[in-house]
Amino acid sequence: MVLNPETLKQMILILTKTHADEISCSECFDEIDRFAEIELVGKSAAEALPLVQDHLEHCQDCHEEYQALMAALKFTDVSDPGESNEKNQKI
Ligand SMILES: [Zn+2]
Repeated sequence: MVLNPETLKQMILILTKTHADEISCSECFDEIDRFAEIELVGKSAAEALPLVQDHLEHCQDCHEEYQALMAALKFTDVSDPGESNEKNQKI
């Protein structure tokens, strides 16, 4: 099979379509801490986790959760010896 531009276009279309699927609140919740951490280190979380970004834009509950998480993360910083330890290795 030859990957001509047309085939590629179709594949991208399929991928984009899948990509555009909304995630559930629990899926969003699973990723939200990572999302917040990416934001906190000054990277684009929207680019890294577009599905979460998309969900946050549409879901008031998760958006509030995200706001609270961001506030908490900023407040506690990286000195939290708890569960976030493994993820907070030097970036
Ligand atoms: Zn939600």
